[in-house]
Amino acid sequence: AQAAPKKTKFGPLADEDRIFTNLYGRHDWRLKGAQKRGDWYKTKEILLKGVDWILNEIKVSGLRGRGGAGFPTGMKWSFMNKPSDGRPKYLVVNADEGEPGTCKDREIMRNDPHKLVEGCLVAGRAMGARAAYIYIRGEFYNESSNLQVAINEAYAAGLIGKNACGTDYDFDVFVMRGAGAYICGEETALIESLEGKQGKPRLKPPFPADVGVFGCPTTVANVETVAVAPTICRRGGSWFLGFGRERNSGTKLFNISGHVNHPCTIEEEMSIPLKELIERHADLDSSMYTQVQLPFIRVLNEATNYLAGGVRGGWDNLLAIIPGGSSTPLIPKNVCEEVLMDFDGLIQAQTGLGTAAIIVMDKSTDIIRAIARLIEFYKHESCGQCTPCREGVDWMNNMMWRFVRGDARPSEIDMIWELSKQIEGHTICALGDGAAWPVQGLIRHFRPVMESRIADYQQQQQARA
Ligand code: SF4
Repeated sequence: AQAAPKKTKFGPLADEDRIFTNLYGRHDWRLKGAQKRGDWYKTKEILLKGVDWILNEIKVSGLRGRGGAGFPTGMKWSFMNKPSDGRPKYLVVNADEGEPGTCKDREIMRNDPHKLVEGCLVAGRAMGARAAYIYIRGEFYNESSNLQVAINEAYAAGLIGKNACGTDYDFDVFVMRGAGAYICGEETALIESLEGKQGKPRLKPPFPADVGVFGCPTTVANVETVAVAPTICRRGGSWFLGFGRERNSGTKLFNISGHVNHPCTIEEEMSIPLKELIERHADLDSSMYTQVQLPFIRVLNEATNYLAGGVRGGWDNLLAIIPGGSSTPLIPKNVCEEVLMDFDGLIQAQTGLGTAAIIVMDKSTDIIRAIARLIEFYKHESCGQCTPCREGVDWMNNMMWRFVRGDARPSEIDMIWELSKQIEGHTICALGDGAAWPVQGLIRHFRPVMESRIADYQQQQQARA
């Protein structure tokens, strides 16, 4: 059923336009409940429309990968659409959600697992894949259990497995639990881990679409990207394209954590202004969230109680925001006033959408310490393969903790900036960049704070002497 979005441009999303209908776990997540909420509706018809039709709808939708890189999904999936050379093709779902501040995929797998299982089938069909491997973060025990239950239900109902949905298409879904390494969220490290080896990123090329898991053509896709595919196919690529703005279409899950009145995960229109997203209060918007009834979907008045409710102490108490998980550079309050939450808006602001995990920091935050803590995380999670990351991030970590105390020379601010530039772009995988960018954001926007911390420390030392 193609339908126009019931949206106000960049305003609150109408309930009937939400893809994730059980984000807050208020409804039955098992097969019967999921079917009542619209999942597995006309899946057979979608599969029978064929590879080209599915790929075309995804391309028309403008969907870009929701894991952080934002690569156009239709194009990525079409890389697999080549004549078979005899090797099976695989879909690998990256559910190793470890980016600090990010928990959107966890909510999907915990409360809406059938969306992902159905998404695997539809995405797998678009790629001609034989099976999907869902590589889930080891700490997500409950989520992997729910996912396995949903997979078992789908097998029992004939929705996946041999002759999936009665379409002559055979498709299996497997869950593989990781063991807690952040780096296994990097697609080639994930593939290594899936093969039973140490999770260390591979040099590219070859790309996974040529040589992926078990040496076979593979596409690695994020949970949210895969989970939205069936709804896009049901409602039409043009429906999804109607949200957001050019090159930044669709609805999106946002995690909002830190110093807000109600940390939450919420689905909203892409390109929503960041300030609007954080400052919206339930009492302002209750009229927007009316109960609706569609032929195949009944969405209750869910979102009203799950709004961030504003910065703790009011907007004026805001210091800075990390907009897309810990790898994206922070932006100060004056930038937050104007920026749109999408790929292009945040790049313009010298940061990125990343995983769309917004970390809000109010004026009580020691901003240098906050960034130092992140660098410590990256140091801990580096796999150690490349020198700029292994040595450089360790060096940055040592310097950052001295900056926290002020125990540094002012010239070292330029030195750590240069160091971060020597790491950025000089490593096998993006972990090095992810460690460099928060430091660059700190210096770009809070250099005076670093300088005054150093001056204070020097004064204290002189007073003691
Ligand atoms: Fe390993 Fe860091 Fe190199 Fe990535 S950038 S491969 S994590 S050492």
